[in-house]
Amino acid sequence: MLILAILIVIGIVVAAQSALGVSPEQRFVKIDRPAWISYTMDVFYDVRWRWTYGNSAEIENVLPFCPRCDYQLTIRNISNIPIVDVLAFHCDLCNRDVATIQEPLSSITSKVTRFIHQKLRTETWPRSGREIEEARDHT
Ligand SMILES: [Zn+2]
Repeated sequence: MLILAILIVIGIVVAAQSALGVSPEQRFVKIDRPAWISYTMDVFYDVRWRWTYGNSAEIENVLPFCPRCDYQLTIRNISNIPIVDVLAFHCDLCNRDVATIQEPLSSITSKVTRFIHQKLRTETWPRSGREIEEARDHT
C-alpha cells in the first residue's frame, strides 16, 4: 500500500514536471541561494565582526576583526574591579586597542547577534564590502 502511494506521488511529480517542460535537474539549478547567506560581516562597536550560519540558519562563530587591517582581534579584560568586565579588543598588527567595551563578552556577542537579526528582519544589511566600509557605526 505504501509503495503504491509512493509510486502515485512520483507519478504526479513527474507529470507535473513534464507539463512544465522542466527536468528535475533544471529545477534544482533554478533554486537560488537566499541573498542573506552572503551577509557574514558587519561593523558594530567599531569592530568588524564575522560569523557563520548553522544548519537552521542560526548565527554561529561570531568573531572580531580589525576594521583597518582585518587581523583577528584579541580580547582581554582590563578592568580593575573584579565584578566588572572592561574588554579591550586589541589588534596585534596595528598595535592598538580598536575598541573598549564595558560589558561581558557573552553580552557583547549576544547584542551583535541581535543587531544581525534586526538587519536581516528589516532587510537593511549591507550588500557589498563597500557598504560595510561606509556603514561604520551602528551602535
Ligand atoms: Zn589592525
